[in-house]
Amino acid sequence: MLLRFAPSPTGLLHVGNARVALANFLLAGGQPANLVLRFDDTDQERSRQEYVDGILRDLHWLGICWQEEVFQSQRIDLYQAAAERLMMAGRLYPCYESAEDLEYMRRRLRARGLPPIYDRSALKLTEADRIILETQGRKPHWRFKLAEGTIAWTDMVRGDCRYDAAHLADPVLIREDGTFLYMLPSAVDDADLGITHVIRGEDHVTNTAVQIQLFEALGATPPEFAHLPLLVDADGKGLSKRLGSLSLADLREQGLEPMAVNALLARLGTSEPIEPFEDIDHLVRDFDMTRFGRSAPRFDPADLERLNQKIIHALSWELAQARLRALGCDHADEAFWEAVRGNLTVMADVMEWYGVVYGAFNPEAPAEEDRDFLAQALAALPAEPWDARTWKAWTDTLKADTGRKGKALFLPLRRALTGRDHGPEMSAMLPLIGRKKAAERLV
Ligand code: GLU
Repeated sequence: MLLRFAPSPTGLLHVGNARVALANFLLAGGQPANLVLRFDDTDQERSRQEYVDGILRDLHWLGICWQEEVFQSQRIDLYQAAAERLMMAGRLYPCYESAEDLEYMRRRLRARGLPPIYDRSALKLTEADRIILETQGRKPHWRFKLAEGTIAWTDMVRGDCRYDAAHLADPVLIREDGTFLYMLPSAVDDADLGITHVIRGEDHVTNTAVQIQLFEALGATPPEFAHLPLLVDADGKGLSKRLGSLSLADLREQGLEPMAVNALLARLGTSEPIEPFEDIDHLVRDFDMTRFGRSAPRFDPADLERLNQKIIHALSWELAQARLRALGCDHADEAFWEAVRGNLTVMADVMEWYGVVYGAFNPEAPAEEDRDFLAQALAALPAEPWDARTWKAWTDTLKADTGRKGKALFLPLRRALTGRDHGPEMSAMLPLIGRKKAAERLV
């Protein structure tokens, strides 16, 4: 099997694109040899090297890998040759209508309650008509002549799909300036590279109907198709490519784990529960293309955060060590990790607690009504060695001595020792902070 992910380098990847990339990689069995990365960069004006670089960075970050990499801009000869074959076969014909002409035709059809389908008037032009038009300086664009009949395929997600070619307009394959639109290069590449499965967004379903005819006209067998419904945001609106906050670059910046993104995207739109996965190999084994439903899944950043939290909470000391070191938390030990991991949403949150435990930390002045209490707490601070029972022993004593309980007992201590109202269990934090620092913070 051979699959391809075919981004246009005209923007950054967002979660919707990542979902398509991931589905391709997972269906490819996680085997780089089964995946081609194709850059659809025939639009010279909008394609940019910085987006190519950005897409590569994002895919690497997710752990998606491929063997072959192709750029459509380097394969124009192939498209040209295919176009010539289609012309010879009478399937590609020149049209001279201007954008305004076409708009006018569309409006007239709509006014009559008809679908805005090109009426093929260019097919009626004689050789002489064309010569006249061209001597007037008109340049043709080229349309693919769809064959009559039903176009049918069994979609891996949508099931049986049928289109009556009569309801489709002959698509423009080549612009007036001779450049190719998306339609033909994609089919030519899929045929030339021997792509067996095309997974892409639902926005391409009609293109598939056309491309099936293109494959046939070029003497190639169409691949299998799977069209994933497009993700929508919390309001049910489509996720736009330009929505920066959902770009992978942004998620990375927020410190989210690539496996949180993968785990969410692999299950979103299926009836399977969203749960953390250890690594991409586990996702490969779990993956089943037919699980995807036909309704548009809602992408909620809060789901991603929850999943990220679960992944961090479950991160073993063994795996956490290198991550902590990379963040400069050189003194962090296993007891510290065990104490704080349950309070982290993203790994970088650890810095806060690292500062509390290992840093020089000046607590805010305590509230007036807590001053005496904290002085008493300092006086009652047990001698070291400290362990997980120290906190309880100390606060039990304070409770008996002061009559304070619950929040009034615990909160001033937590605030003085950590500078925060919430956080990891104090029984774990206290021995980590140690007597010296604890005493300093209670003054
Ligand atoms: N460049 C197209 C896109 O990003 C590719 C569609 C396809 O997979 O054929 O939508």
